[in-house]
Amino acid sequence: DMNTRAGVSSDSLYLLSAGGLHPERLCLVCGDFASGYHYGVASCEACKAFFKRTIQGNIEYSCPLKNDCEITKRRRKACQACRFQKCLQAGMMREGVRMDRVRGGRKKYKRRTEAGLSSYGHTVGSSEFTREENVISHLLLTEPAPLEANHDDSTDDGSLRTVLTLCDLLNRELLLLIGWAKQIPGFSGLSLVDQMSLLQSGWMEALLVGVAWRSQSSAGEELVFADNLRLDAAQCRAAGLAELYEALRHLAAKYQAMKLSPEEVVALKAMALANSDADPVDCPDSVQRFQDWLHEALQEYESSRREQHRTGRLLMSLPLLRQAAGRAVQAFLRLHRHSSVPLHKLLLEMLDAKA
Ligand SMILES: [Zn+2]
Ligand SMILES: [Zn+2]
Repeated sequence: DMNTRAGVSSDSLYLLSAGGLHPERLCLVCGDFASGYHYGVASCEACKAFFKRTIQGNIEYSCPLKNDCEITKRRRKACQACRFQKCLQAGMMREGVRMDRVRGGRKKYKRRTEAGLSSYGHTVGSSEFTREENVISHLLLTEPAPLEANHDDSTDDGSLRTVLTLCDLLNRELLLLIGWAKQIPGFSGLSLVDQMSLLQSGWMEALLVGVAWRSQSSAGEELVFADNLRLDAAQCRAAGLAELYEALRHLAAKYQAMKLSPEEVVALKAMALANSDADPVDCPDSVQRFQDWLHEALQEYESSRREQHRTGRLLMSLPLLRQAAGRAVQAFLRLHRHSSVPLHKLLLEMLDAKA
C-alpha cells in the first residue's frame, strides 16, 4: 500500500507527485526527477550522462572550495568534483559504465548469431512490441553472460566471507538485470514508474530462475550462484541461508524434472518480471499487454515444438519461484538487520521495496 511504500523513502526515494497519486522517484545525486536506475542508482538523465562522461573520459576534477559543495538540480553544474563524489556516495558503479559499453556494442550480437541462434533483426531498442516469433530469440540474445563471484577476503570468518561474496554477486547481477530488462521491447515501452514497480517487485524471482537453472544437475546438491560460487547445504546453513537452500533446491529439482530448454528459461525469467504483483501500477493495460505478449510468445514456441501442455506447466511453476524469492528477500534482510552484513545501496533499496 501507498503508505508503506512512501515510508521506504526515508532517504528521499519517493515523492508523491503533484497529483498525489503516483510515487515519483528522485535522483539520489541532485534531487531532480529520476528517469530510472543508472549504474545502480535512481538518477536523472543529466547525472547519468555526467557519470558516464567522467568514467569514460577518466576525468579528474578538483573542487575550488572545501569538497562539500551542495549538489542540487539548480547547482549541480557548479562543482563537478563534488557532483562526482556524490555519484559515488549514492552508489553509482564504474563497472556499470564498462558493462554499458559491452552490452551496447555490436560484438556480442555478432558472436551470438554466429553461435547459431536465430537471426534477430532490427527491432532492438524499438519501443513497440516485436512479433511473437522473435521474442524468445531476442530474450536469448540479450541474456547476459553469467557473472563470476569476486571472493571476499576482508574477514577470517568463513561464513561471513560467503555471505559478503554472495551479496556482492547479487548486487552486480541486479545491475545487469536492470540493463537486461530495459532491452525487452515490451518492457521499455512501459512508463518509467511501471518499469520501476515491476523491477522492484520481480527482480529476485528473475534472478533466481538463473540460479535454479544452473543448480539443477549440480553434483552434491549444491546451489550454483556462479561458476566459482557453489554452496552446499552445510555452507548455506552456516551462512544463515538454510531456508533459501531448501526452496532453491526444490525449484532446481522441479526444473530438472521438467527438462527446461534455454528458450523456456529466458521466457520464465521475463515472465517472472512481467507477472509481478507490482502496486501501484501506472498503466495496468500496458502491463497486461506485456504479459499477454510474453504468454503468446511462449505458447507459439511450445506449439512449434508440438508441446501441448507445456505452457501451462511452466506457468504453474511460477508460485514456487515466488516462494523461493520471498525466502531469499527475508534471508538477506535478516542478515543485514540482525547480523549487520553491509549491503550495497541498490540491493538494500530493492530488498526493502519487497519487505
Ligand atoms: Zn541528477
Ligand atoms: Zn565542490
